[in-house]
Amino acid sequence: MNTSFSVGDSAENVAENRRRFLDALGVPSDRLAIPQQRHTAVIRNVKAEGTYEQCDALTTTVPNVFLSVSIADCAPVFLFDAMKKIVACVHAGWRGTEQRILQKTIRTMLQEFGSKPGDVSAFIGPSAGQCCYEVGEDVAQRFDAEFVSRRNGKFYLDIKKANEEQLRNAGVPGTNIEVHEDCTICRTELYHSYRRDGDKSGRMMAIIGLSQQD
Ligand SMILES: [Zn+2]
Repeated sequence: MNTSFSVGDSAENVAENRRRFLDALGVPSDRLAIPQQRHTAVIRNVKAEGTYEQCDALTTTVPNVFLSVSIADCAPVFLFDAMKKIVACVHAGWRGTEQRILQKTIRTMLQEFGSKPGDVSAFIGPSAGQCCYEVGEDVAQRFDAEFVSRRNGKFYLDIKKANEEQLRNAGVPGTNIEVHEDCTICRTELYHSYRRDGDKSGRMMAIIGLSQQD
């Protein structure tokens, strides 16, 4: 189910896909906060639904505002501070990962909202895996060697591991970190993949939000 209006599918079908996805989660479709992802390290704190330009991470403390991220190979990362009642979503491809957008998002939670790293839980969703995510040498060189493997003269990047390291650097305990093992490129039956399918690849949506307090 493609959830992007910008890859050539009919708007009617995309709207229906989004409706089914959100219905399954019990989330009203008019409560989404959508970042216009540009592979930046820009983080915005939002208080309402809507579209937010030029940013790749959102935070909110407002219940019933659902932060979304659109992905096909880039890593969707979700953060939740159960004590301060803050959620964040982060879009981290190799550019965002290199710019440490995830670590910066946690720093924002600590500095602006008073979160403690030990109270933050994190989930790194399905994304391009090191099994398939070939990058050029120029990209590989931007990352610490522990995140790059070399096979048959080619370089493969592990963006999940690189983002996991950012969580640990920010002080998030390993027991609070969950990393989904699936690779979007080779799990063809489950995921859209930009690397596999090109510009017309479908995009998947992932969301996080705080439910209304009783
Ligand atoms: Zn793979």
